[in-house]
Amino acid sequence: MGFIPCQKCKQTFSKEWFWYVCDTCGFRVCHACHAIQGRKCEECAFGWMKEKN
Ligand SMILES: [Zn+2]
Ligand SMILES: [Zn+2]
Repeated sequence: MGFIPCQKCKQTFSKEWFWYVCDTCGFRVCHACHAIQGRKCEECAFGWMKEKN
């Protein structure tokens, strides 16, 4: 089972874990970062963070 880093806080979590991924640029953040950032992607102009696991 692989581990991948949150692209915001750089903590690593299981690939199978609960991620939020931007539907436009693919920016991937963990639960905690999503709680701070909200649904709007901070990396691109029009993307929205979608739940993904
Ligand atoms: Zn994070
Ligand atoms: Zn984005």
